[in-house]
Amino acid sequence: MPSLKQRCCQSASKGENGGVGENSGGVPRPEPGAGRERPGPAAAEVAADGVQSGRTTRGRARPGGGSGGTGSGATGPGGTAAGGAGSGGTGPGGKAPGQPPGSGRAVAAAAGSRGGVNLPVLREHNTALVLALLRSARDRGLSRVGLAARTGLTPQAVSKIVARLRADGLVAEAGQRASTGGKPRTVLRLAPDARHAVGIQLDRDELTVVLVDLYGSVVAARVTPLDLGAGAGPVVERAAGEVEALLATGARGRHVLGVGVAMPGPLDHAAGVTRRVTRFPEWDGYPLRDAVAARLAMPAVLDKDTNAGALGLERDDLGPGAGPGDSYAYLHLGTGLGAGLVLDGAIHRGARTGAGEFGHQVIELDGPECGCGRRGCIEALCLAAVARGDLTEAARILGVGAANLVALLDIDRVLLGGRIIESDEAVAEVFVREVHRRAGIPVALAGGGPYLVARGAAELVLAPLFGGTTPGPLTPATGI
Ligand SMILES: [Zn+2]
Repeated sequence: MPSLKQRCCQSASKGENGGVGENSGGVPRPEPGAGRERPGPAAAEVAADGVQSGRTTRGRARPGGGSGGTGSGATGPGGTAAGGAGSGGTGPGGKAPGQPPGSGRAVAAAAGSRGGVNLPVLREHNTALVLALLRSARDRGLSRVGLAARTGLTPQAVSKIVARLRADGLVAEAGQRASTGGKPRTVLRLAPDARHAVGIQLDRDELTVVLVDLYGSVVAARVTPLDLGAGAGPVVERAAGEVEALLATGARGRHVLGVGVAMPGPLDHAAGVTRRVTRFPEWDGYPLRDAVAARLAMPAVLDKDTNAGALGLERDDLGPGAGPGDSYAYLHLGTGLGAGLVLDGAIHRGARTGAGEFGHQVIELDGPECGCGRRGCIEALCLAAVARGDLTEAARILGVGAANLVALLDIDRVLLGGRIIESDEAVAEVFVREVHRRAGIPVALAGGGPYLVARGAAELVLAPLFGGTTPGPLTPATGI
């Protein structure tokens, strides 16, 4: 096992793949500067805030995102109760975090419709576009004129939106930039410290909690051992305790929007309920999302660890030539084996969150029993090979599964991650080589660092601010 397992109370270091998510659809984030070359997200056609008639937002127009944030905070024991925790607060549109702006389906419906559009929804949509562009621009920032050009909004509409965002503390003026032939333009930047989100990764034997800023950069993190079989109640209590410790030192006085939880599937993302986790059937039917929300008094959201991992990936992690509409699989080999599927640029969870149960495809009819109850599952075979130290065989098995996936879905690339694959460079090389040999498409080690899944979990909370969606409603915590 990598040294990660022993790590506790780590502070995030500069260069941690912080970055920001484009949205919860799992689209890889454009590199800094990409916003210049790429057309910005289009404004909706129907006027709101004095919006001029713009391009339709149907199709691929997605807010951009930055990448490569730097973590700066530190964690440590001690401290007092979290200052920012549980404060809930309002998003840029003045809504509670439980009803995030840019609630995906509503926005999509509004944007694609030519009549009967709900004005507040459009206003939130446009606000999310502006925020997403500023997130993408990062330190370079953008002027009001630049924002208008990229969104298709009128300068007046942009000014109104910016005024609201400044009043909320989400956007700040950051000096002036000379413009050709005109007066200098005021540069606007996202204020990354204005809001934060917590990400929790529950693995079978390890617990990771992170605090991220609005760029998605990790500002504080804690990693400790965990026994997922200790029972749902004790695990929630344990996770909540770690989050409180994190917030006590990493988030005093900070405004925390909510908590995203990622854990092994299967689970029901929409209902926030866990299903029969392989080897831990006692989790079946547990309302984890609501339990976490109630315990921490924060809005919460739940997704599979593999989906969170795919969300946490940045464009740079996908290799050369990757584009925002790509289809790829993030294969995660840790204490289990699963896949996060991004098809045509969006996370594919399936109707019942069943998509991505990659590890339970049967490839040997009379093979060894798997924790899921079947025989010869790829997860059982792969983990057995790992257990006996035959990593080349494990990689070969993974390659067979990846080839099946490629044949079924015709995806563009495969990204590999998880503790076993990332345990050292030589091991990673074996996996990349063996999987590529069978899958026949580009295969690479997913970057993202040790907090990839936890960061992706936090991104589930942040995404709506920037026009993305959550895998289910953020459960409003009671009492806020
Ligand atoms: Zn199985």
